[in-house]
Amino acid sequence: MFEALPGQDEAKDLFRRALAADDLSHAYLLAGPEGLGKVEYARELGVAMVAPCGGCGACDDCARARRGAHPDLRVIEREGDMIRLGQVAPIVAELVLKPFVAARRVWVLPEAEQLTPAAANKLLKSIEEPPAHVHFVLVTDRIERMLPTIVSRCQVIDFQPLSDAEVEAYLSDAHDLEGDEGRALARLARGSVERAARFAADARGVRLRDEYLRHVAALTGGTQPGAATAKSPAAAFLGVLDRRVELVAAEVAADAERRAADVTALFADPDDRECARALKAVGERAKREKTRHARQAAADALDLVIAWLRDLWATAAGAPDAVLNCDRAAELAAAAVARPEHYARLLAAAAVARKDLYLNVDQKLALQAMFARFEEVARSA
Ligand SMILES: [Zn+2]
Repeated sequence: MFEALPGQDEAKDLFRRALAADDLSHAYLLAGPEGLGKVEYARELGVAMVAPCGGCGACDDCARARRGAHPDLRVIEREGDMIRLGQVAPIVAELVLKPFVAARRVWVLPEAEQLTPAAANKLLKSIEEPPAHVHFVLVTDRIERMLPTIVSRCQVIDFQPLSDAEVEAYLSDAHDLEGDEGRALARLARGSVERAARFAADARGVRLRDEYLRHVAALTGGTQPGAATAKSPAAAFLGVLDRRVELVAAEVAADAERRAADVTALFADPDDRECARALKAVGERAKREKTRHARQAAADALDLVIAWLRDLWATAAGAPDAVLNCDRAAELAAAAVARPEHYARLLAAAAVARKDLYLNVDQKLALQAMFARFEEVARSA
């Protein structure tokens, strides 16, 4: 159980002990920064709670529950931008029903901060005094946005960013990435296993990081022989981002097709109202995922810029051992020709873009504005 999920030893221990002692909380809240695989942990915990084996991970019951086909394990994803009363009310109405086959019934709610106040209040009563067989596993990246009364009734499990060593071990075990590149990607992932996985896929695939860094190097001075010669490195950088966004959009579309096929296979009559509703949910989910991935792609690209600037600053300040891009230390040493203050000003310009992305400003506009600020810094140097 949880073996395939890296890090979070404390949470794993706690779940394993609670499962073994049959002393499970009626409401867990898995909280912490994004990118730590909290939803996967929530699902695995749900699987362990409904499978008679207690979650061996190898039997048919586990496989069925993991596929999302166990009647006593349900995942409630938001419809549109929120989790609404209309989604929560039917759950609350069914709580008194005995489990179908398992000893417990489990509801997993990713993005619990997206519960509308009405939905949260409806759920609150059930979390306070649930029937003995009922368990909730809530997940959030933004606990500060949740109704405090809900948080206070849950057992909060804090998820921590992984150490560089943990991410490095994960990249080696799960992605066969080692050496300087593995070490650099582990540092760049900043404790997020999901970010590490994306970097690993890129390193094994299209290698967009190389292209981003080539254009960033051209933008931040100290251009290397053989480095970017694009007329506008900023436009070239955004072009790389466009390609990444197209790539993930295609992946999302393929995933949505598979999900739609699963739904259609489930209903004998494709004109069934429930079938139409489920298909609509698949479509909405795909739209959401596309937006989320596009935002993530922009954030990853920006984080690479910030990491590069930080490395230039560290190198210029005489601390080359502290660089994140440790597989490019030589390139950094040759490029960091300005004074540390210069890179600090560029970093400040990039930090504005980071905040813009957090505030949901259009990704491309935020990055374009950042590149314009870079030019100002270069002119005033
Ligand atoms: Zn099992």
